[in-house]
Amino acid sequence: MRIDVFTLFPELIEGFSRASLLGRAREAALLDLRAHDLRDGASDARRTVDDAPFGGGAGMVLMPEPLFAAVEQVTSTEGLPRPLFFLTPGGRPFDQGVARELAGLEGFSLLCGRYEGVDQRVGDHLVDGELSIGDFVLAGGEAAALVVIEAVTRLVPSVLGNEASVTEESFADGLLEYPQYTRPAEFRGWGVPEVLRSGDHAKVARWRAAQTLVRTLERRPDLVAARGGLGPEEVLLLLEQGEVEVLARHGYDVESGKSRQS
Ligand code: SAM
Repeated sequence: MRIDVFTLFPELIEGFSRASLLGRAREAALLDLRAHDLRDGASDARRTVDDAPFGGGAGMVLMPEPLFAAVEQVTSTEGLPRPLFFLTPGGRPFDQGVARELAGLEGFSLLCGRYEGVDQRVGDHLVDGELSIGDFVLAGGEAAALVVIEAVTRLVPSVLGNEASVTEESFADGLLEYPQYTRPAEFRGWGVPEVLRSGDHAKVARWRAAQTLVRTLERRPDLVAARGGLGPEEVLLLLEQGEVEVLARHGYDVESGKSRQS
């Protein structure tokens, strides 16, 4: 997979992506990550990329000329993987579903803003889409780009050592992951659920399936609602696992074991 990033701070992208998972993916040639300096598109000796906003207001705005020029230079010399996404708080919310979509591509590109943002003509005529990593405002798009790159890259087959980890984790099926434990079995008086040490794989699987539902109901009921609530078998599973209180708290009719919320 090839990912190109346009930024005023290529060193931020390079530094982060040299280590750990991204570093290994790059070394193994599974990821071809190229960070381009937006100032390479500037035409003056001072490599100016920003100017004051028309209409007044605080801060500076990235100008269209250097941004178009930087993207067009790369397109003509090395080819550019499209789609090209502008990172902005006003973009399409980036989530695991979008990460999966992007992981299915051969490549894509990201454009990082800075200062007060970017001239609207970049959004209208240069990029193919916009992505936001959440309802908050960062100082620049680099951290957002790295979030997107890491979330997408780890879904590319053979980047993660353990393939199972992407199918058994949060959001893989619209739910949060069950709690995980490792050694020691007792730490400062806190134990681990007995079932996990029972060696009974079927029992462990049922406990985990139930915990996935409990955790999602308790922490992200919106995710459960988005799947249409719990199904009858899921309600039965929670009843079997003794999670009556959780079911009742979330409006499930535990007396009759019905799946419908009362
Ligand atoms: N004035 C802009 C606004 O109100 O939407 C915010 C500009 S922000 C200070 C500078 C840059 O950081 C943006 O152009 C964008 O590239 C990046 N950025 C900030 N928050 C982001 C977010 N939640 N998701 C993606 N990129 C973000």
